[in-house]
Amino acid sequence: MGISRTRVVCLGCGANLGEGRAVTVYGYRGADSETWNLRRCYCTDCAPTAIGEPTLGVSELLVQAWLGSIALPRTRTHELCLTEVEVVDASPPTAGSDP
Ligand SMILES: [Zn+2]
Repeated sequence: MGISRTRVVCLGCGANLGEGRAVTVYGYRGADSETWNLRRCYCTDCAPTAIGEPTLGVSELLVQAWLGSIALPRTRTHELCLTEVEVVDASPPTAGSDP
């Protein structure tokens, strides 16, 4: 599930999250990777407050953000994006145990 789509669904309760909603997103990145993989989205009711069990070898991040939308002139559509991102919790690649 990506963020740059037109629809974000809470993993906890299945609620549709659209523009103007606060979301909490869990993402991770391999030690040798430049890009974050945003994996799980939660509404404010279901949001975890910390990264549960860190995984060795990957950077993990839990952020709170507001969903905004950007206009794509070329296709004349809108896509969701994360704005006002705040880090809630983070785990370095050196933390955790072998998966
Ligand atoms: Zn939810």
